[in-house]
Amino acid sequence: MRYRRLFETARDGILLLNAITAEIEDANPFLTELLGYSHAELLGKKLWEVGAFADVAESREKFSELQTRGYVRYDDLPLRTRSGAKIPVEFVSNTYDCAGVTVIQCNIRDISARKRADEKINELAFFDPLTRLPNRTLLLDRLQQALIVGSRSASYGAVLFLDLDHFKTLNDTLGHDMGDLQLQQVAQRLTDCVREGDTVARLGGDEFVVVLESLHTHPREAANQAQDVGEKILASLNQPYTLGAAEYRSTASIGATLFCGASLSIEDLLKQADLAMYKTKELGRNGLQFFDPAMQTAIIERAALENELRLAIAEGQFVLHYQAQVVGDGRTMGAEVLVRWQHPVRGLMAPGDFVPLAEEAGLILSLGQWVLQAACAQLAQWADSPKFQHLKLAVNVSAHQFRRPDFVEQVLAALERSGANPHRLRLELTESLLIDNVPSVIEKMFTLKAKGVCFSLDDFGTGYSSLSYLKRMPLDELKIDRSFVRDILSDHQDASIAKTIIALTQSLGLNVIAEGVEIEAQRDFLTAAGCHAYQGFLFSRPLPLASFERYAHRALECDTLQ
Ligand code: C2E
Ligand code: MG
Ligand code: MG
Repeated sequence: MRYRRLFETARDGILLLNAITAEIEDANPFLTELLGYSHAELLGKKLWEVGAFADVAESREKFSELQTRGYVRYDDLPLRTRSGAKIPVEFVSNTYDCAGVTVIQCNIRDISARKRADEKINELAFFDPLTRLPNRTLLLDRLQQALIVGSRSASYGAVLFLDLDHFKTLNDTLGHDMGDLQLQQVAQRLTDCVREGDTVARLGGDEFVVVLESLHTHPREAANQAQDVGEKILASLNQPYTLGAAEYRSTASIGATLFCGASLSIEDLLKQADLAMYKTKELGRNGLQFFDPAMQTAIIERAALENELRLAIAEGQFVLHYQAQVVGDGRTMGAEVLVRWQHPVRGLMAPGDFVPLAEEAGLILSLGQWVLQAACAQLAQWADSPKFQHLKLAVNVSAHQFRRPDFVEQVLAALERSGANPHRLRLELTESLLIDNVPSVIEKMFTLKAKGVCFSLDDFGTGYSSLSYLKRMPLDELKIDRSFVRDILSDHQDASIAKTIIALTQSLGLNVIAEGVEIEAQRDFLTAAGCHAYQGFLFSRPLPLASFERYAHRALECDTLQ
């Protein structure tokens, strides 16, 4: 009886289970209260009927573990109460024989208060109490992890060292409470500017550090990404703060440095970013400087080029060049239009030097639309000329452009406005388009196809090609990439890839064209393999309109003379 009193008053839960039937033989008041059932409700129920563990299946599983192992101990197990809440408990069970019945006795200790205390200690040790951001200790730890991960993946990371401009003045004039308020709002804004896996830490005072991970594997690209995040941060910190009744504006200075693996120590990285931050302060604050001067120059050049590109689009500084696409006997079927930037200072620029930037800066949409309209206008003009009315034009479409919800409307509008025949327009898509949302890509293609527009898959074989997509897309043509044609005579693998592509188009009922054909032997190889359409310097380089027309006309004359 003395022990019964212990059972009744214990500050731990005690549960007695029948080891054979899993029925609850007894439960003390502490446990019934913890679980939210009355004693009568529990008695005679099987363990899984009260759902003490995650669900019925888990409760059954736990029971058989208790049954077979006898002594079982869990340091931290979630116990589910009647209301569905989960309480962390320490759980110990043992099996006894009691008056001919085998009983499993479970001792269940509520450890939620202890866990809360642990969390609090953890928070005090690793987090800044004012902003709840990681403190210096945790920052160093995260940075160490980032260096290890970076060296495994070869991708760059960046450290941004950030200091608020004139924070001391705010503290001195509006008081420390307002200063604290601003720091909290800065912390929130910084967190909103970065991705989930990135770290935002407060070093102390008005100094913050942002660690960006998994950036590009090329340092220039990684620097561009870091610059973009830095600019986003500066723009966000430039927004007014509400401090009590007052609205307050301020700026920040950022210093940045890149890292890739553990080539530098954490201390050196932070020192570099700190030095770069001082450079920003010297240059007038409210900006971002990289520690590496070469990186800084590259960033400045890119920013300048981006501005120039915006202007070029507004002012129409682009021209189209036309590269002939010919069939076996030398007849010109049409041309691929290739855009060139007539830069006022740098001269004629190839797309490789500005299309990637246009894509990054979101300018490809207007550039692409201009190319499309110009090509349609040209088709419409040729329609009245007996010499050129048979020509088709192939237009490159960037994946960004195609993904726009109104892409189909844009193409149809360009056709309608110009009056061009849709059957003469071919859109060149790349495999990068097929990385996501294939059904929507296919749907758009079908809509345009129904109007007569043709499709070619450019640079085929270099990207992510899935044969099942090929079957589902309303394609007309595959384009064998230049890289396979280049070494077709010397490299067995390239030769067999080219042959395989040709065989594939034959079995799928598609046309095939080889690009980058520079010498006759390459053309002859392709002809022997069954490819009868070509594009390349052997026939013509990309040419301005007048030269292309002369070329196409000459080819036509040769053809009629033969
Ligand atoms: P692409 O669509 O694969 O275009 C073919 C590229 O190969 C062109 O370079 C062309 O000049 C080059 N080429 C053609 N034949 C030969 C040859 O026999 N030998 C060699 N070595 N090269 C040859 P380009 O004009 O510099 O264009 C490069 C890329 O820029 C194009 O690759 C295309 O992806 C992109 N591009 C060009 N114009 C546009 C456009 O209007 N919009 C978009 N989104 N991209 C464009
Ligand atoms: Mg192309
Ligand atoms: Mg190509």
